[in-house]
Amino acid sequence: MKSFLALGLIATAFVLTSARRFDSAKVFRAKPRNEKQVSFMKYLATIVQLDFWYPDSALHIVCQMEVDFHVSADQSSVVETLMKENKIQYEVLLPNLQEVIEKQVRNETDSISRHSYTKYNEWHKISAWTARIARKNPELVSRIQIGNTFEKRPMYLLKVGKESGKGKAIFIDCGIHAREWISPAFCQWFLKEATRTYGKDQNMTNILDNMNFYILPVFNIDGYIWSWTQNRMWRKNRSKISSSDCVGVDLNRNFDVAWGTVDSSRNPCKETYCGSSAESEPETKAVTAFIRNHISSIKAYLTVHSYSQMLLFPYGYTYDKAPDHDELNEVAKGAVKAISSLYGKEYTYGSSAITIYPSSGCSEDWAYSQGIKYSFAFELRDKGRYGFLLPESQIKPTCQEIVLAVTSIANYVLNQTS
Ligand SMILES: [Zn+2]
Repeated sequence: MKSFLALGLIATAFVLTSARRFDSAKVFRAKPRNEKQVSFMKYLATIVQLDFWYPDSALHIVCQMEVDFHVSADQSSVVETLMKENKIQYEVLLPNLQEVIEKQVRNETDSISRHSYTKYNEWHKISAWTARIARKNPELVSRIQIGNTFEKRPMYLLKVGKESGKGKAIFIDCGIHAREWISPAFCQWFLKEATRTYGKDQNMTNILDNMNFYILPVFNIDGYIWSWTQNRMWRKNRSKISSSDCVGVDLNRNFDVAWGTVDSSRNPCKETYCGSSAESEPETKAVTAFIRNHISSIKAYLTVHSYSQMLLFPYGYTYDKAPDHDELNEVAKGAVKAISSLYGKEYTYGSSAITIYPSSGCSEDWAYSQGIKYSFAFELRDKGRYGFLLPESQIKPTCQEIVLAVTSIANYVLNQTS
């Protein structure tokens, strides 16, 4: 037993020392005010390694946009000097990224601490929880393996709802982008709320009696683990690319809808690399196969990201309005109103291309292209104060407000699809 403990400690120490550190790395928010400054920002991204937090690549920078990005310690002074020389208005959102990373998780070295809904959980805890919650709620929850990740980890989906509701379903995925930790926290929270309030809360009971949810708590498991153990800022999956030393595909550019156009990159070293072909990644394939096999019952598709507080719907790949634009806009309006009713948080809403920027090969456009009309993408809290490093103290309020949005959408879908 002792030797196991010692081994555990050595393993923990190894993980900590091998993880990339972000000491004195900074997160900036810059606001280019004219075309010349926009060009400068795009140029800056070609000469310095900028890790874009918002938007997700330099391509999307436009006038008056607040551009958030992280720069390593050794490059931040040159970035600041160049921004000053070019009269770019900017502020430092986070002066020392490493400090905020360490503060985000209360006991990151405590590998024996238990799964908690108000903390960020490592994958092994989430994985064990998927089995536990299904075992404890056999009438309401079941666990299905839908495939394996690139690194051969099983991808677990949880089905929640009564047998009587199996004719209609909402698919929800979380954690397609590894570093957006609040997203998997939401999927876990939603399962907890569903099981806790079924039979007690009239609305939740009605929903679960009449429809099922398919919930994928972590879409990009390999990337999520990497973001815990090696690089907190990791976004893509961990796919090895034969033609390159760079690793990973942006799974949310890998879907078979306008694939490889608009904004995704063919360069494997970019954060928005779309893969060698549409659905080239095992994670994408697992999800699309499951949805195709259940297409007759799936009425809504929800994908959960962070950050920037938005509720988006198709299209992402074009500025054209989707045929159901007006209805989707109304549904989003209702959901956003439900969100703000709790803590007053304002979420903006609209079509992806117009509200954020055009993007191609994204999951919500793909779901819509399969005939799933109610297709939405959430961008959870916050608006950049902490960005991807949202403190654990905000997990509960964020998840509470988003449960209201999801139940608002579920009620609408139930009424429309009788
Ligand atoms: Zn994302």
